[in-house]
Amino acid sequence: MIKKLYRQLTSEKQRIALHYALYKAASIWLKGNRYECCCCGKSARRFLPHGDVIVRKNIKCPHCLSLERTRILCMYIQNEIFPHVTEPLRVLDFAPVKGLKEFLKNAPQVASYIDADINPNVATYQADITQMPYEDNSFDLLLCSHVLYCVPEDRKGMQEIHRVLRPGGRALIVEEIEGETTRDLQHVSPQELREVYKEDTTTCRIYGHDLVDILSEYGLKGQIIPYVKQLPPEFIEKECLTNAFEADIVDCINT
Ligand SMILES: [Zn+2]
Repeated sequence: MIKKLYRQLTSEKQRIALHYALYKAASIWLKGNRYECCCCGKSARRFLPHGDVIVRKNIKCPHCLSLERTRILCMYIQNEIFPHVTEPLRVLDFAPVKGLKEFLKNAPQVASYIDADINPNVATYQADITQMPYEDNSFDLLLCSHVLYCVPEDRKGMQEIHRVLRPGGRALIVEEIEGETTRDLQHVSPQELREVYKEDTTTCRIYGHDLVDILSEYGLKGQIIPYVKQLPPEFIEKECLTNAFEADIVDCINT
C-alpha cells in the first residue's frame, strides 16, 4: 500500500534520484578496504545486495552501483580492448551503468561516448535498440549488457547493432547463457516466469550457446568468453565476483 502510494506520488526520475542519494549514504556507512571496484576504483567493507526475484548479497558497488557483470565487462575492456586501440573509439553503451559510464567517458582510448536506453530516465539519450536513431557505421565499439534477453524482437536489435557498427567494429554483448539452445519464454505467464524460471517479468528468453549462431546470421561473428574464469582467484575475491560465473561476454566482430 505504502509502496503503491509512493509510486503514485513520485516520478520515476525522482525515485532514481532518491535511490542514488540512499546509495551515497550507504557508501559512507560501508567505508572500508575489503572489496574494491574496478569501475570507480573505490573500496568498501561490504558491497550491497541486489536482485528482484532472488536477492543476492555482496553484489553492488555502493559508490558507482556496478554489478559484478559490469565489473567483469570493465575488466575485459581494460585488458582485452584498450591495449589494441590505435585510433580512439566511438562508443555506444546501451543500458548504461553509472560506474562504467564514468570510466569510459574519462578513458583516453575513447573519442566519443553515447549512452542510450529505451527508458529516457536512465540514460542521456533515448533509443530503441530495434530502431536506433544513428547513421550506418557510426560506432567502433558497442556495449549491450543484459538488454537483448528482454527485447521481444531481439533479432531486429542484432540487425541494428550490425548496421550502426563500422565493419570490423566490436560488439560486447553480456548475457546469462544456459545450455545449448535458446529458450523463448514469451508465451510463459508472469507468475510462471517468477516461480518456475526465477526470472523477472521482463524476460523474453534465456539464451543458449546458439546465441553465437544467431548473431552470426546478422554479421556479428562472435565467441562466448567466460572471462571471470580467466581472472586470478584473489582478484575474483577482491572484486566480489564469486557469484558472477554466469555473466558471459559474447565478443563479436562486425563483418
Ligand atoms: Zn564502483
